[in-house]
Amino acid sequence: MNRRTIIRTLAAIPLAAIVARAAAQSGPAKGVNVEELQKNWKSFLPEGADVPSSDQPMALTKDEWRKRLAPEAFQVLRQEGTERAGTSPLNREKREGVFVCAGCGLPLFTSAMKYESGTGWPSFFTAIPGAFKTSRDFKLILPRTEYHCARCGGHHGHVFDDGPQPTGQRWCNNGVALKFVPKSDKT
Ligand SMILES: [Zn+2]
Repeated sequence: MNRRTIIRTLAAIPLAAIVARAAAQSGPAKGVNVEELQKNWKSFLPEGADVPSSDQPMALTKDEWRKRLAPEAFQVLRQEGTERAGTSPLNREKREGVFVCAGCGLPLFTSAMKYESGTGWPSFFTAIPGAFKTSRDFKLILPRTEYHCARCGGHHGHVFDDGPQPTGQRWCNNGVALKFVPKSDKT
């Protein structure tokens, strides 16, 4: 490799990295109407589905939660843990449907709110209105906005402001804290 080739190769690396990350990301379709998505979230449920609402609070003791949840879900929902990036099968979930809380079944996001962030966690650019409450979290020194289920208080993830347009939000959710309900079981 001569000097010129080396310089050219080095110059190409950062660009290659940027291109790789961009290829891993895919935002919502252009012109998506967020208000409409939030209003029509029920159209993503299977016909006749019976889902709880946040005005039916669910309060269990830590021991009751431990018995009810799988250990990984307990760790995230009740102990504010974080699953390892890239481990959730929901990263690849692309069917139409609704993501509900793995703790209490409250609908949180629709498939139309999901996008590929390239982070290895299921990511959404908005949420169903009233699904979450937020708090400030100082665990990594810099403050982050933690969010939790409005019905059972289970921890789900953090919301960042580096998401795609039109909201600019990235709701970074632990897959293990979610359950996916497909609109149709045909696909
Ligand atoms: Zn919940």
